[in-house]
Amino acid sequence: MGGQPLFLEPRLESRLHSLLNEPGLLHTLTDGLGSPLNVVVPDQLADNLQQFRSVYGSHHLSGQVYFAHKANRSSALLRRLAATDAGVDVASLGELQHALGAGFTPDRITATGPKNPEFLWLAARTSVTVNLDTRGELEQLATLVRKHALPRTRILLRLSGFEASGVRVLSRRSRFGTDVGELEPLLEAVERHGDVVDLVGVAYHLDTTSLTEKATALEGCLRVLEECRSRGLRPRAVDLGGGFGTNYLADGGQWDRYTTELTEAVLGTRPPLTYGGHGYGLRNDAGTLRGTLGLYPAHRPVAGAHYLDELLTHPAASFGGRPLAAQLLEHLYDLHTEPGRALLDQCGLTLTKVLEVRAQEAGGPLAVRLAAKADDVALEEHGVLMDPVVLPRTTTRGAAGVGTETRTEPVAVHLFGNLCLESDLITRRTVFLPRRPEAGDLLAFANTAGYCMDFHATRAQHQPVARKAAAWQEGDAWRWCLDDQYWPTTPVGGAQ
Ligand SMILES: *Cc1c(COP(=O)(O)O)cnc(C)c1O
Repeated sequence: MGGQPLFLEPRLESRLHSLLNEPGLLHTLTDGLGSPLNVVVPDQLADNLQQFRSVYGSHHLSGQVYFAHKANRSSALLRRLAATDAGVDVASLGELQHALGAGFTPDRITATGPKNPEFLWLAARTSVTVNLDTRGELEQLATLVRKHALPRTRILLRLSGFEASGVRVLSRRSRFGTDVGELEPLLEAVERHGDVVDLVGVAYHLDTTSLTEKATALEGCLRVLEECRSRGLRPRAVDLGGGFGTNYLADGGQWDRYTTELTEAVLGTRPPLTYGGHGYGLRNDAGTLRGTLGLYPAHRPVAGAHYLDELLTHPAASFGGRPLAAQLLEHLYDLHTEPGRALLDQCGLTLTKVLEVRAQEAGGPLAVRLAAKADDVALEEHGVLMDPVVLPRTTTRGAAGVGTETRTEPVAVHLFGNLCLESDLITRRTVFLPRRPEAGDLLAFANTAGYCMDFHATRAQHQPVARKAAAWQEGDAWRWCLDDQYWPTTPVGGAQ
């Protein structure tokens, strides 16, 4: 196989761990519902919400946690969340209808992202808070509200292009939001339309893992709130968007070892670690390593609610170095967040059936063909490198000992999808599995609920789009139903 296996084992908390310990159930499900199959675990979402809430509590902050719906289309997850006190952030007409239909009242919904007239109309009609992307959108909303005699609409202003005071740290450029440099005409428009819109706060969302960039943006928002108040407007909330991240891997050491070895593979000082010499953004320029590693930091010791905690503890340079949380608390501002990926941590997995296992070059990785395409398991699309879990068809195989030892040896494999397309690789890296999979086994990709299970799914080549099931525990037993059949009343005794 060439050297030690380089595992990237998934981080499995108790629910997913317990579910993966039910191979019989998971095989029955894929036999009945097909491969690929997505399984969501709605109760985990409620637990994750509590972790965010407890960070709010520890900083004595009030405000709402809005789940960013775009990260997963599941009805079960949304309905489970509707049974809590969380909010939801919707970014399309369809998502808004879905949220209203799941039981979210309009006071628990914010509409973000660029909007079409229908989306704006339904949001204003139902008194959902509208997070406005641009001044043009504000003008459009004001016109709609007047023309259709809609209720005065609560709005947030999404801003971007913040600069740290003193040091020139620019926050990431964004296609979305109004540049803070354009604040003056934006606030003038808010004042002009004061009869039809009510400014409740300002917002940002930065798609970055950088804490300092986010702190810069939050500080910028606090300064904008002061500016608003000095002109007589009365906004009272900051919405920091999402991007709190997820820790995918169980072992930081494995991640460090893998990335080091990948660098060496690119430089040619060890055998290749990817299919076709792909470098994940790195390249060998006559013996010198160039480029940057374009991967998600799959092992993130500080992610999710912990990341929010660190952000709130971060000192605000323009406010005498006091923590950002203290600044929010002093003004009694509400803190809103819109976590997507982080709230979906450990909320689901994707099951794929092994169709074929065959040798490629002698001594090289095995070719494993799955009943799924790359878009069904979009971990690679998001730069998340994480091993699947092998669920053998027969649980006795390999356990008895005699004659089965070779099968429990680690193997290197390439995971191919079911499209008739050279590029349909589930992942471009060589994956090391603890045992050789066989046709009929399942490979379970853990923690795919955030963006990786349905965001990219297509019907290319008439291959099926994964069905989705919801699973929950009753005592020691796992129960399931189709995603669309799940309501908080489904589990016996109702959702806790
Ligand atoms: C995508 C998005 C989010 C969620 O981002 P995550 O990285 O999944 O937490 C939140 N708010 C807005 C406006 C978004 O576009």
